[in-house]
Amino acid sequence: MSRPELIKEEIAGIAEYVPGKSIEEIASKYGFHPASVIKLGSNENVLGPSTKAIESMVDHAKDVNIYPSADASELVDAISVYTGLPVENICASGPGMDGLLDNLMRLLISAGDEVIIPTPTFSYYGIAACANGAVPVYVELNEDYSLDTDAIMNAESDRTKVIFLCSPNNPTGRLVEEADLRSILEHTRGLVFVDEAYIEFSDGNVAHLLNEYDNIIIGRTFSKAFALAGLRLGYGLMPAWLKAEYMKIATPFNISVPAVFAGIAALSDADHLKKSINCAIEGRDYLKGNIPFKVYDSQANFVLVDVSPLRSKDVTVSLLEKGIIVRDCKSFRDAGDSLIRVTVGTAEQNKKVVAAFEDASKLL
Ligand SMILES: *Cc1c(COP(=O)(O)O)cnc(C)c1O
Repeated sequence: MSRPELIKEEIAGIAEYVPGKSIEEIASKYGFHPASVIKLGSNENVLGPSTKAIESMVDHAKDVNIYPSADASELVDAISVYTGLPVENICASGPGMDGLLDNLMRLLISAGDEVIIPTPTFSYYGIAACANGAVPVYVELNEDYSLDTDAIMNAESDRTKVIFLCSPNNPTGRLVEEADLRSILEHTRGLVFVDEAYIEFSDGNVAHLLNEYDNIIIGRTFSKAFALAGLRLGYGLMPAWLKAEYMKIATPFNISVPAVFAGIAALSDADHLKKSINCAIEGRDYLKGNIPFKVYDSQANFVLVDVSPLRSKDVTVSLLEKGIIVRDCKSFRDAGDSLIRVTVGTAEQNKKVVAAFEDASKLL
């Protein structure tokens, strides 16, 4: 028995978020020992977390009978040092940046408001927007995956509240050009959300625009370069006027005590961050140079591979059969059926990935 009439109408059209496959799922399906499965489907940091972050988390484990500070102010102070922005511009968020997105939608959207989403991109924007009553307006990227700024501006209406831009974009790895971003910021009456989940791996951060525009919000996360995906920690950089409104509706205590202290320690571990960045840069160059298909330039810790004329589904399965998890992009709107996203692994893992794509190319 079920009671679908109890579910609010907006939810009916939402396609469920499709996560990358887990090690356990693939190990049991194909008969591998879990330790031998290579997980490169979710853009996690293959170096593991900073030991400083682990130690700090363990040190504070005894304090978990006490609520954290409501606004995670110790962590916000540390983010202020890391970004060079005042605390008035910073909101820490849990669970992850996804929590920030959801809170922003709750803050901004009334039923029927519109959000603009260039595709293909991260699918949670559409889910968070629809769940809060927004109507998503999808605009395809240009063929080279640059932004079609004219199409985005033409998609704008009286009801546009937010334009989502992902830079570097997941799954294409391409940065948004600052000139394009400025044109959109100046043209729109809405807010522009710039998702910088992968920004540490690139040279394109736009946090300085907070000094010039009052309608930009930047989303950041500890899940990728800082290697804390399992802790669910993110933050937003936004104008002070917006932070004041945001704090009215943010779930109180949404960041756990271990996450607050792991985040502070991770920000202070410049060596681990540098290692993570170098691993991504060297690895993505190696993958681009050696995978025998078209590989797009990437500013992130993953590369996008176009396996046409083969189908992404077939190639993904051929890698899974070798114990390598990569992401078939078919579930991304407007990504077609020949794209595969591969997280950069360790040098040893990358070699196995290349060998597996070489085998797959023999299917041609
Ligand atoms: C991974 C990812 C996020 C989610 O970050 P969390 O902090 O783990 O919720 C947000 N945006 C993009 C583009 C991502 O790839």
